Amino acid sequence: MSKPIYNRVILKISGEALAGDKHFGFDNDVIGEVTDAIIDTVKLGVQVGILVGGGNFWRGRDGKEMDRTTADYMGMLSTVLNALALQDALEHKGMETRVQTAIEMRQIAEPYIRRRAVRHLEKGRIVIFACGSGNPYFSTDTAAALRAAEIEADAILLAKNVDGVYNADPNQVSDAKRFDEIGYLDFINRGLSAMDTTAVTLCMDNHIPISVFSLAEPGNIVKAVMGEATGTLIR
Ligand code: UDP
Repeated sequence: MSKPIYNRVILKISGEALAGDKHFGFDNDVIGEVTDAIIDTVKLGVQVGILVGGGNFWRGRDGKEMDRTTADYMGMLSTVLNALALQDALEHKGMETRVQTAIEMRQIAEPYIRRRAVRHLEKGRIVIFACGSGNPYFSTDTAAALRAAEIEADAILLAKNVDGVYNADPNQVSDAKRFDEIGYLDFINRGLSAMDTTAVTLCMDNHIPISVFSLAEPGNIVKAVMGEATGTLIR
């Protein structure tokens, strides 16, 4: 039987993907399907760290008259709601999990401690990283790249609302083409937006491939770790 091509991954789940068609809050069906797919992945022996976004509740300043730093901290706090919802769903299905937050909130979760996170992963626990990087002016994509580098993940699985990286916005350009594979520098030079450039640069410098696919088909998570084509591979 074929084996996974990755031993340890960071699964980045955007908040928007968790909202499904509602575009706000959680969609319980999505959470159910995603957690099933995560469990299938862990059962293959893959160590899974999850970096959750928060865009389904709050996305920075987003045009509002507001202090940028305050808005970003609100965004980081919104990721905690998603982390706890995923933890609860996974534990109801019998999985061992830990939530680690980049901003301390000890009554709720462990603080982020790299060595501890790695130890949990080695024991087969799913570690859910919340509060992004803990710093304003960053995105949760960049936090995913940072955590992936720190815990020496083999890849980032970027589960999104779109099914890969296109040369133009597929919602606006009818003949937009999807890349099967694209280099980090090509991605940056073309100004593509599936992931922000800070995150892509960090992955490039640390040789971490990024597999971009749609969370609408949660089976893509298993496919990605098995090295099967899912969407776009940035490397
Ligand atoms: N954020 C931040 N620092 C981080 C990660 C996130 O300031 O390290 C803030 C930022 O305002 C961002 C919001 O949290 O817009 C929610 O994260 P993001 O938009 O990346 O979530 P996603 O799009 O993945 O749901």
